Amino acid sequence: MTDTVRHDPEALPRAVRADFPLLARRAGDLVAYLDNAATTQKPRVVLDAMTDYYTGANSNVGRGYHRLGLESTERHEQAREGVARAIGAAQPEEVLFTAGTTAAVNLVADTAGRRVAGPGRRVVVTGMEHNSNLLPWRRLCDSTGATLTVVPAGPDGRIDADRFAAALGPDTVLVAVSHVSNVLGTVNPVREMAAAARRAGALVLVDGAQAVPHRPVDVRDLDADFYCFSGHKAYGPMGVGVLHGRRDLLAGLPPYQVGGGTVKGVAADRPVRYLDGPARWEAGTPHVAGAVGLAAALDYLRDLGWDAIRRHDRALVRHAVDVLTAVDRVRVVGDPAADPSGIVSFVVEGIHPYDVGAHLDRHGVAVRCGVHCASTFLDELGLLGTVRLSFGVYNTTAEIDLVGELLAGVRPGPW
Ligand code: PLP
Repeated sequence: MTDTVRHDPEALPRAVRADFPLLARRAGDLVAYLDNAATTQKPRVVLDAMTDYYTGANSNVGRGYHRLGLESTERHEQAREGVARAIGAAQPEEVLFTAGTTAAVNLVADTAGRRVAGPGRRVVVTGMEHNSNLLPWRRLCDSTGATLTVVPAGPDGRIDADRFAAALGPDTVLVAVSHVSNVLGTVNPVREMAAAARRAGALVLVDGAQAVPHRPVDVRDLDADFYCFSGHKAYGPMGVGVLHGRRDLLAGLPPYQVGGGTVKGVAADRPVRYLDGPARWEAGTPHVAGAVGLAAALDYLRDLGWDAIRRHDRALVRHAVDVLTAVDRVRVVGDPAADPSGIVSFVVEGIHPYDVGAHLDRHGVAVRCGVHCASTFLDELGLLGTVRLSFGVYNTTAEIDLVGELLAGVRPGPW
């Protein structure tokens, strides 16, 4: 018996749907939320953890010597410990809170990147990067005279580890790759890519924005120098994310933004002495409630169990591929069922993706359409855009069936 036959794809949504208040939105006009790669809905435990922080401990952190200040600091650090445990970090001090993946990549580009980039040196990325893991490197190269090499994903939208390794050389100083493509859901062989980068003597950053909600991530096993992700795509709050950095690397890393909370002491006539540890890169008042909510979200995923989440992803993605390929003029892009990550992109022959998205929205179905902040990848695929279904733990096969039925009636715009 195959896994799909044995597994009840409705088991997980049945168990969790009531955890998500938004899914019972009073307006009653949301029939299916299938845009989870853009952002996920938040379970009650995350909202409660944040409310509990604001109603029980709210105060600034790392500064006040009163009980609320100390308690707030403790909750912030507990959140750091929770995140470190969830991603297998060697120590909580390897976890820096940022505003999200974009902020994390910019942090690395402007600190580690600026140290190693320069004329005659190369930064290497893949052709499938989201703009947030592309533009910081383009800007770094433009401003330092380094060269940006883009390794194309190829017609099937996959990065081959050997082909990627062959593109690296002694002049490669930094490699930045996504763990999972936000366009096709393709899973990259990041462990092998990181090892190849290491052999070339380059630093490696992995953008895990689309991986963390869908698979257990162990940063020690991946062995990248930096790994980053966003809270809001993993059932946590918006405005908070994580940059994991190896402790030995962080020790030599200059501050990024500077200001309150980053210094040991400032005097007009002496050099500024910056703190060691995460506070060095967390200038200003941090999003403490966000960090608390993010840790709660990662606990929530752990409690649901990765086996259940992975099985559910697999069942939904396979079901979506079956449903979509049965619809006239619909073509699924890439091979999302190869190693499912909850993402299925497709095109409808002769109909603009925005027209498809608008049609689905008129029936209460939320999907993403267009270039998904990855226009260079869409150019490589020869597409002006796709329609993307992206699943969360609460989605059902019935929602996918509805998409199939609606697609049968889609017509080119205007409506
Ligand atoms: N990287 C990938 C692969 C993404 O999918 C996204 C968001 O869609 C980002 C980076 C940017 O994440 P954020 O907007 O949370 O910083």
